[in-house]
Amino acid sequence: MADFEAVRRQFPILDQQVHGRPLVYLDSAATAQKPQAVIDAESGFYESINAGVHRGAHELAARGTVAFEDARAAMARFVGASAEEGHEELVVTAGATAGLNLLATAFGYASMGRGPAAARRFALGPGDEIVVSQAEHHSVLLPFQELAARTGATLTWFSLDDEGRIRTDTADEVITDRTKVVAMTHVGNVTGAITDLAPVVRRAHEVGAVFVLDACQSVPHLPVDFHALDVDFAAFSAHKMYGPTGAGFLYGRRELLEALPPAWFGGSMVELAWMDKPAQYMDPPARFEAGTQPVAQVVAAGVAAQWLQSIGMDAVAGHEQALTSELLRLGDIPGVRILGPMSATARIGTVAFEVEGVHPHDVGQYIDAQGIAIRVGHHCAQPVHRHFGVYASNRASLGVYNTMDDVHALLDAVAGVRPFFG
Ligand code: PLP
Repeated sequence: MADFEAVRRQFPILDQQVHGRPLVYLDSAATAQKPQAVIDAESGFYESINAGVHRGAHELAARGTVAFEDARAAMARFVGASAEEGHEELVVTAGATAGLNLLATAFGYASMGRGPAAARRFALGPGDEIVVSQAEHHSVLLPFQELAARTGATLTWFSLDDEGRIRTDTADEVITDRTKVVAMTHVGNVTGAITDLAPVVRRAHEVGAVFVLDACQSVPHLPVDFHALDVDFAAFSAHKMYGPTGAGFLYGRRELLEALPPAWFGGSMVELAWMDKPAQYMDPPARFEAGTQPVAQVVAAGVAAQWLQSIGMDAVAGHEQALTSELLRLGDIPGVRILGPMSATARIGTVAFEVEGVHPHDVGQYIDAQGIAIRVGHHCAQPVHRHFGVYASNRASLGVYNTMDDVHALLDAVAGVRPFFG
């Protein structure tokens, strides 16, 4: 049994007062706090290793390269991707948004005839379809909407049920013979709903489409194995999984990464460059990692993955599910509506809610005054808010360090909102 009180003590930032009250941090879906091991890994890199990786013959460069590649391998083992040298399946990015834009840009190049012959499988044109869902973060919706606009393809989408779950039961109708790409979230960042991916992945592969997963909100909270899920690509950010900002990863099945044209160009991704001939690019993952990478952040992200692994993702999910059951009592407070599933097993502990008659920003301010951090706004997901008939909401989201006391502090605070605003 993991000791979650001991886990919490590893987060120095939580030991402070805000507005004269002990800090209650319930905004982990926006960004998670960092354990001491991750903070030490990033600063330790600067203290003893810092050097450009994959270039330079000196000792520090060699140590930096080993630390960077070890971190990639640790992360790959954590998410069920190949960690084998020469068969790497994780590309370093600046975060999930960067990874999704990289992919959409590369598909765009493939549509222009760029890349190896095998890249034709990603080519899009008029008559082709890109499928998303109405639950998507703008980081999925917009890159693929723009890709559709650039290539003449059509964007279509899965609708949501009353609790905001993606209607995966409609996969056979929504995904057609013309579908080339399906991009979808694993866990909604507003609803917290866990997507039933299997019927969608199966149908996407049946019609020869590639399946792109937004794993931002699942990797920090659930056991995730990209091979077992059988997805083709997946993007996630280190900062939401207790790692640093500025780093993330794009997973791609090895043979797909080998077929994909590069999206960004520059140093460290090219084998041979001439003035008068096209360049010859490196194999993945280097082909997609132009320029200097966020090395210290990636090294610390690898430590975050190992740190989570040492607690165990089943234990993390169990701890958070117990708290989520209690957090869902928000829905018992008069005038409070939860925007998402009411069953703790169908979701993670990211719970968006509205308080009838009180603007989300007023709710957020009232709650902040009590030392409790939640998020207000549309959480970069406007279409899902439209589905619920609201423009914005409040969102409380759990992490490994949260306790029942944190949840009760929020429940008490939210119960006070309507009486306060009259
Ligand atoms: N997808 C989901 C579901 C998210 O919650 C987020 C972040 O809020 C993103 C994508 C984008 O992540 P980042 O801002 O780290 O690139």
